[in-house]
Amino acid sequence: MRIAVISDIHGNLQALTKSLSIIRNLRVDKIYCLGDIVGYGANPNECVELVRQYADHTVLGNHDHAVLFPDYARYLPSDGKTVALWTAKILSSENREYLMNLKYRVETDLCTLVHASPDKPEHWNYINSLEEAGNQFEHFDKTICFAGHTHIPFICRDDLQSFKFDKEGRYLINPGSIGQPRDGRSQLSFGFLDTDAREYKNFRFSYDIDGAAEAIRKSKLPKALGKRLYNGY
Ligand code: ZN
Repeated sequence: MRIAVISDIHGNLQALTKSLSIIRNLRVDKIYCLGDIVGYGANPNECVELVRQYADHTVLGNHDHAVLFPDYARYLPSDGKTVALWTAKILSSENREYLMNLKYRVETDLCTLVHASPDKPEHWNYINSLEEAGNQFEHFDKTICFAGHTHIPFICRDDLQSFKFDKEGRYLINPGSIGQPRDGRSQLSFGFLDTDAREYKNFRFSYDIDGAAEAIRKSKLPKALGKRLYNGY
């Protein structure tokens, strides 16, 4: 089976449509989405609609949660809070209902999917170090746990770009962020898993950042949110 894993889209329609066009060419069987479909970017409704249409499994992210429960928005960074409250106002009722039905954790045959971390996915903890990653392995049984949230692609193995996985090994993987990469590179990031070849790859592609930044400006959202897309932080 060929699976694309996308995460942290954050209302960035330009990055999401580019990703989906590449994913179509990869002839995938499934698309998994690790949440944070909304927040920061200017096109939350369009992004939720595309995820509803194309993703086979999706989990809830902390920004999705903040849009549903605006009281939680105070725990977000100031720009994140501003956009969460704005998104809550413009989100369609169908999209709200879709987010409302998302779970913190989904299990497939081979994979555990969470937004933040498998130990307590509803606490939105960050996995920022090898030590923190190592502590997570006792909290999932599957071969691979996919987690997003930090926006930084990460494989708990020495090669950060690709690997062939053996039957005994278990892996913790962050596919990076579609809509707001934060590892100093502006290219969108997603994961591709081929379970027959037992191979995983992290893909990076440039996209229309000008369009995404312009949409943020036009919607009168904080300008810094457009600027950071160029710098990848
Ligand atoms: Zn995020």
